[in-house]
Amino acid sequence: MSVREILTDISNITRDKNKKSQICDSIDLIKEYSDKYDDLATNHNLHTFIPYDKVEVSLTSTDLQKLYTNSFSKGSLKEKYYSKILALSKDGKCPICGIGQVSNLDHYLAKTIYPIFSVTPINLIPICRDCNFKKRDKPIINYVDSPLHPYYDDIDNFIWLSANILKKEEGNIVVEYFVDKSIMEIDNSLYCKLNSHCNLYRLFELYAIQATTEVAENLDAWKRIAFKEGIEKLKDILKDMLISRENFQKNTWITALFRSIIDHINIIL
Ligand SMILES: [Zn+2]
Repeated sequence: MSVREILTDISNITRDKNKKSQICDSIDLIKEYSDKYDDLATNHNLHTFIPYDKVEVSLTSTDLQKLYTNSFSKGSLKEKYYSKILALSKDGKCPICGIGQVSNLDHYLAKTIYPIFSVTPINLIPICRDCNFKKRDKPIINYVDSPLHPYYDDIDNFIWLSANILKKEEGNIVVEYFVDKSIMEIDNSLYCKLNSHCNLYRLFELYAIQATTEVAENLDAWKRIAFKEGIEKLKDILKDMLISRENFQKNTWITALFRSIIDHINIIL
């Protein structure tokens, strides 16, 4: 899926002759910028990209945004491109939170600020409604404060998400999530970036809700196994489940929860 092919298709369905010719005239330049996007994102330098007012293209900002809203996300092109990008997410789950159902595409670089990337496929991320709502249109000004880019930031090849399990006085179990520097050496800028990403999408709070329910639903079963077969046997069972989950994904809320449960089994039981 290339931006050139997308723009050619958009120009073909555009009836206004003037607009059609402006789109055709802009294809090479938009392609050039999309290639630049790819280079910068690959080197984690997307924050250095200049916003719209410095881009020399004949289409206005509104025209560029309309390529997406009036053509790309509607009719025959919706089927050809939009739906295919939407279907990239694993099991239809949001790649940002891993919980919500993907419902639309998010412009990683907001189209209101970077309209040149309105229909650049590598700038379009499948996302759930909640995550999309939390990510406001803001310029990306530095590496640390910009959210993770699902196509360029591979952060599941090492463990960075951990959970603390606490028992409140009234007996309730509370789970708190955090970016963990102690498991593997993470450089400080990546550590800050992971924190700002989780804070932007309020992932720690979201994970805590999921984890509290998971513990409440399984606690009786874990207690029965510990009573009948001993705590060590229960830990072995939980370790097997953890290995299976880590082989799938290392930094989901449930994987981090199981890592923590094994270490804090006495608090829970
Ligand atoms: Zn989400």
